[in-house]
Amino acid sequence: MNSATVFEKSRPGRGTSFISGHATPVCADLSPKALRSAPPRLPELTEGEVVRHYTNLSRNNWGVDVGFYPLGSCTMKYNPRLAEQIASWPEFSAAHPLRPVRAAQGFLRIMYETERILSRLCGMARFTLQPAAGAQGELCGMLIIRKHHATRRDRRNTVIVPDSAHGTNPATAALAGFKVVTCPSSDEGLVDIGALKKLVNDDLAGIMLTNPNTLGLFERDIREICYIVHNAGGLVYYDGANFNALVGRFRPGDMGFDVVHLNLHKTFGTPHGGGGPGSGPVGVVEKLEPHLPVPLITKGPEEFELEEHRPLSIGRLNAFAGNALVIVKAYIYMRLLGTAGLREVSGNSVLAANYLKQRLSEVYTPSHPGRCMHEFVLSAERHKNEAGVRAVDIAKRLIDLGFHPPTMYFPLTVPEALMIEPTETENLETLDAFVDALLQIDREARESPEMLHNAPHETPVGRLDEVEAAKNLNVRWQAEPSANTSHSQDASKRKDGQ
Ligand SMILES: *Cc1c(COP(=O)(O)O)cnc(C)c1O
Repeated sequence: MNSATVFEKSRPGRGTSFISGHATPVCADLSPKALRSAPPRLPELTEGEVVRHYTNLSRNNWGVDVGFYPLGSCTMKYNPRLAEQIASWPEFSAAHPLRPVRAAQGFLRIMYETERILSRLCGMARFTLQPAAGAQGELCGMLIIRKHHATRRDRRNTVIVPDSAHGTNPATAALAGFKVVTCPSSDEGLVDIGALKKLVNDDLAGIMLTNPNTLGLFERDIREICYIVHNAGGLVYYDGANFNALVGRFRPGDMGFDVVHLNLHKTFGTPHGGGGPGSGPVGVVEKLEPHLPVPLITKGPEEFELEEHRPLSIGRLNAFAGNALVIVKAYIYMRLLGTAGLREVSGNSVLAANYLKQRLSEVYTPSHPGRCMHEFVLSAERHKNEAGVRAVDIAKRLIDLGFHPPTMYFPLTVPEALMIEPTETENLETLDAFVDALLQIDREARESPEMLHNAPHETPVGRLDEVEAAKNLNVRWQAEPSANTSHSQDASKRKDGQ
């Protein structure tokens, strides 16, 4: 496998040129100031070489269309092609965000209806579709909570976040200007009610809760938690990124939550695509509606409108209406499945997770016994103690065996954590093959731990220094100083027609 960059594959003079050097330059009428002084240092390859280069690069990529992707908490499930296709129609994809509202009625209707469906599914009064990711939805929600207290001239400044929360929760609360207080989990992995009671006081602005929590466990005591927090004058925020475990069966609004965010790119089958575009709509109860960001999509007597003037709003969160095409895809997904289909989504995602958990518990230690929701966490602590094989070794070996690794070392409360989320779109054969791979790795840990320390063995590059990569990210190719000069000389020679 040749992992050279296009620049390294470049050979002077080999480039394909469709425009002869003697043709009139395209930019003849540009002022000299706007022209380059030296030609760009572009790689020179034949068209065929370029096609092979990028085709082979694309084949090194892993995605849900290639194979099983049990990345816990991320919900990497199949994205229906029908939704992709319809969203790519020019009626949607070529719609300019500044087109007059009158000419965007179809688009606005889809957004309005999406908002209504989400409100009904969650038991909330109203949603905004603006936030462009789950984390931005959290920020939107926490700014709404801040605005609520500020409007009442209440100086509450503390937000409670359980220790099992997604890392974005404490970060969001801090970014929204709150002091973050951590609430420990009980031995069962749920919010410790006794500890929570000690943390509430007159400074409490709210609590951020995830259900199911990041251990894949259903927080049973939601009503009591809501009661404790409301009684102290705080609001309850629901991180519904993992609503795929509950959709069609549970409405956060009925349980006492005041603000909710959902991840369309998890629960509602839209793609994650290289870190985006995502969509994290936020729903609120009636008393918080005035604080939703502008514009809100409303239904006037004749047509849909964008309501801009809302004096108590937190303001504008994003340009225009958020990631509009993602919303179209989620709308199609929800309309395709209907209420009964969405209920099946949550049922099957929980069933698949429990099947894997049950089978894998023979050799890996689950963080908590009993049933899970849509995901579960295994600990490789025994493998570490007995064979020096860590969670990361197991995860890397899975790549050799044809699987994307699970989420590792999260949540932090579980040592050597492997967090597995199969989703509802995998068949039994795939789930069984994944179990077989993990059982094989368990045997390998006893027989040849060294081999696991060096995994993966079958990939273009082996074990990467991930800390270095995260802290000193460098993805820019730069020419060696000497290669650099000869390259640009060659290019300038050609330009001069020599
Ligand atoms: C994925 C996730 C988020 C963040 O969503 P992004 O779209 O990645 O910003 C927040 N909370 C939980 C529980 C999640 O699983």
